[in-house]
Amino acid sequence: MKTKTKIALFWHRRDLRLDDNAGLYHALKSGYRVLPIFIFDQNILDKLDNKQDRRVEFIHQALSEMQEKLTELSSTIVVKYGKPNKIWEQLLEEFDVAEVYTNHDYEKYGIERDKEIGTMLNAKGIAFYTFKDQTIFEKNEILSGARTPYTIFTPYSRKWKDTLNDFYLKSYPNEMYFDNFLQHEKIEIPSLSDIGFEGTREAFPGKEIREELIKKYEELRDIPSILGTSRLSVHLRFGTVSIRKLTQKALKLNEKWLNELIWRDFYMNILHHFPHISAGKSFRKEYDNIVWRNNETEFEKWCEGKTGYPIVDAGMRELNETGFMHNRVRMIAASFLIKHLLIDWRWGEAYFAQKLLDFDFSANNGGWQWASSSGCDAAPYFRIFNPTSQTQKFDPELKYIKKWIPELNSFDYPKPIVEHAFARERVLKIYKEALVKT
Ligand code: FAD
Repeated sequence: MKTKTKIALFWHRRDLRLDDNAGLYHALKSGYRVLPIFIFDQNILDKLDNKQDRRVEFIHQALSEMQEKLTELSSTIVVKYGKPNKIWEQLLEEFDVAEVYTNHDYEKYGIERDKEIGTMLNAKGIAFYTFKDQTIFEKNEILSGARTPYTIFTPYSRKWKDTLNDFYLKSYPNEMYFDNFLQHEKIEIPSLSDIGFEGTREAFPGKEIREELIKKYEELRDIPSILGTSRLSVHLRFGTVSIRKLTQKALKLNEKWLNELIWRDFYMNILHHFPHISAGKSFRKEYDNIVWRNNETEFEKWCEGKTGYPIVDAGMRELNETGFMHNRVRMIAASFLIKHLLIDWRWGEAYFAQKLLDFDFSANNGGWQWASSSGCDAAPYFRIFNPTSQTQKFDPELKYIKKWIPELNSFDYPKPIVEHAFARERVLKIYKEALVKT
């Protein structure tokens, strides 16, 4: 049976929180009662092979937390499972919907989905309003003097900082309008098993900002054996924290850490302006001439953390076991796959996409294209990380390595898959050949 009064729906996606949420704020101020909804999207979930995918569990947990708050407010969230176009038809049957609100999505699939749903809603006379929420700046808000998008981080970040003011930074006071949620009895959220997944019940990183750590970010950030970075990436990924609140903190605590948040905006901005990267293309097209070796056995060894290069293997094992890998080690492991093994960076990108809890297309693609030198503001192609000197610098006592490779000093640990100096010469030759062609 349909609701008796016309209502507004707010569609949560990468913004799993009720506070400081732009689209939700506008919905709550619309004059209609607001019902929040979430769709476990079959188009996405069907592609996940691991039925214990912890990202699905993370989302489920975040929705349950929102449900608790909404219950206190005598409201509810409606959580559905299926293909968005079908679910939207159902929702319009169940509720008398006047307007739909949501936040912008910058990924290819999300843009297409929103276009389809928006058109369908509009055809039925229902307004579809979308807002910026995930980033501080989006689309054309940061452009060079010549009105072109920046492709180099430093000038982008300078303009970003110059443009920043309260208008962009201010949190939305959603709490002031919480009375405007639709009063509705609780509608149960489907369980993980209802949607074909299993939980692991392992804890996720907390969402509190460890201020003392952030203040010492420069000192600690590159040491993989300690908790030296914020570990907020999964929360940023799913919007369980607000980028505006984090940026306000970063401005007070540490400019270096603020720069990391700007890198996130930067890569989302690159994705918006250069959509060819969504189609598996190198940002710099000439890098698509590289002739990769793509040895499948070597790729498997890299995935399993059995290359015989301890820092690379420790990182891959950390990733496989926890869904996280320290940033310094992400750079080393990515560079090793591409440059030491000459395996197409897209293979590594896809593996990270499958495993990372914080997987985000723009940051992941940006990181991989940086390592392969094909990216917008990438490492020069002749820069080839030496895993041994990286270890001496960042894990000199092998604390991180030994944590993940207990058999390090035994015969069980493999010999190096390739010799460093040989691999270095080989990749330089192949890259040169490819780049000369253009
Ligand atoms: P902190 O060091 O505390 O940084 C704070 C936040 O800033 C992060 O949570 C993240 O949102 C943002 N940030 C930091 N560095 C970067 C960066 N280089 N690019 C974009 N945003 C950044 N980050 C992801 O969020 N998702 C990914 O899928 C991802 N894939 C990567 C793949 C490769 C090959 C590389 C080299 C890096 C990748 N990164 C990715 C960037 C970075 O490694 C992680 O953001 C960081 O390790 C997360 O840990 P943290 O939350 O403790 O970060």
